[in-house]
Amino acid sequence: MCGIVGYVGKNISVKKILAKLQNLEYRGYDSAGFAYIKNNNIVCRKKVGQIVNLINATNDQEQADICICHTRWATHGKVCENNAHPQVSYNNNFAVVHNGIIENYNQIKEKIGINKFSSQTDSEVIANLMEEISGAIETRFFEMLKKISGSYAICLIERSSKKLYVAKNKSPLYISQTEDGYFVASDISCFEGNDYYSLEDGMCAIIDKDNLKFYKDSKPCKLQKTKNIYHIDDIKLSKFSHFMQKEIAETPQILFNIAKTYSKLVETIKYKNLFNNIKNVVLSGCGTAFHACLLGEEWINDTYNLNARAYIASELRYKENIIDKNTLVLLVSQSGETADTLAVMNMAKEIGAKVVAMTNIEYSTLAGGADFVLPLCAGQEIGVASTKVYSAMLAVFYILSTKNAKNTGCFNKIITFSRQISAKFDKNIIEIVQKSKRVFFIGRGYDGITAQEGALKLKEITYKDACGYYAGELKHGTIALVDENTIVFAIITNKNIAAKTLNAVEEVCSRGAKVVVLTDQNLSGNFNYIKLQTAADEKLAAIAAVLPLQSLAYEVAVKCGFNPDRPRNLAKSVTVE
Ligand code: GLU
Repeated sequence: MCGIVGYVGKNISVKKILAKLQNLEYRGYDSAGFAYIKNNNIVCRKKVGQIVNLINATNDQEQADICICHTRWATHGKVCENNAHPQVSYNNNFAVVHNGIIENYNQIKEKIGINKFSSQTDSEVIANLMEEISGAIETRFFEMLKKISGSYAICLIERSSKKLYVAKNKSPLYISQTEDGYFVASDISCFEGNDYYSLEDGMCAIIDKDNLKFYKDSKPCKLQKTKNIYHIDDIKLSKFSHFMQKEIAETPQILFNIAKTYSKLVETIKYKNLFNNIKNVVLSGCGTAFHACLLGEEWINDTYNLNARAYIASELRYKENIIDKNTLVLLVSQSGETADTLAVMNMAKEIGAKVVAMTNIEYSTLAGGADFVLPLCAGQEIGVASTKVYSAMLAVFYILSTKNAKNTGCFNKIITFSRQISAKFDKNIIEIVQKSKRVFFIGRGYDGITAQEGALKLKEITYKDACGYYAGELKHGTIALVDENTIVFAIITNKNIAAKTLNAVEEVCSRGAKVVVLTDQNLSGNFNYIKLQTAADEKLAAIAAVLPLQSLAYEVAVKCGFNPDRPRNLAKSVTVE
């Protein structure tokens, strides 16, 4: 998490540099700060809260020819100005911004002397190590990197040299040259279409206004430029109030894009051979991506004579004997930078398994490391709670689990479906949810997974006590929590087991709960209901069912006065373990 921007070049307005940092705010937003050099001294300013607080505390006339900025998602140390980045070294010679976790920070801190530290962060050891090591700045930087372990994207300045010292290990970092000078950033959205260099793990760069030099293991090395394919339009709100609202509304267009892209992709040899010589399929991701994996598991098992199983990436990375070289490891991540998912990729590659990445970001580490990429074609997703990308994941799993997709009308089904879906529901429900103490989502089969995703969305952005369960499980424990302050959403898209889920509905009604049934069938009973678009395939019904649940979470958050795009304690791409 966290966003980093570094700049070296002409004198430009600090506000102009901060405007770039704002593009990265989705990565973390608990505090922000910058440091630049003026008359051989480090000027550092930090503010708690969103970047706008920092901008308001910055003078229009303030200019810098070298500057580092950071928007934080705290891992070590509470949210306060002291712990915000940049972290300045004890003799004020160095300032650093850091994304990631320095895992041996405690040992380093003790060695240097706790009294030389003024923050609770792990990151401060980077700046203080630079003070402790002697020699030329360049040598100190390389030595410092040898002493730290963990994940990092680092951008460091020293008060008397107009250079950026940059390093990357398991956290993304990119460099681009513009008319003003060089920019370093955690995401290419800062580069306004300019081509860029994507640093590899273990690589460093030292940059002044005229030169950019790359190093690996302290020795100079070369790096190829990458073409910038980022679409700037994606980060504009246009007529919408929030990105989450905009992104839910984009779902039909994305489904259409997927149908078009995959009608060609399925013809490629690599796609056709995806399951060749494969015994087991391991699907893995985190959060919403894991829910998509759960559906993927069901759908692949229902279609192929294969053993598919979904695992939470943060668990799988520490499990031995699940992956072997005949396993297809399908990793799902919106950003393609999710640390736990990348760890699974590295493990799978070491074992010699085939790795397939399902990701929205084609230039991501996951896409770069995989043998094959299943693109999600969704454009940038800014809202922290994933919506359109979840639907995209389901659409891709639907195609993947359709044998001979080209000849089965699968793409036409997606296109027709994309024209009909809607996220509408009765607005009274928003108020009932707002007033309820507890919100349950239940369903059976595929709907049981949609229930879990519906609950996650509501938790993420409304902070409501919400849970998703398989309907049949409720009576084995959780029903103890059901009372008149509970609202239960029952998802029913499978005709064969509708009656069974309705039993659970009766059971919770008897205990005073309010019930909303989401269904594409004609069901009647003593409940509110949300009519879902009938889908030509039961798998697509999972998209029809999740859309109103996403919208509901959005509307409740707005009604409660929360910003759905910036939920507390969360950030968009989880690049730390
Ligand atoms: N570990 C650092 C901190 O807590 C950096 C966190 C981040 O990546 O934002 O300050």
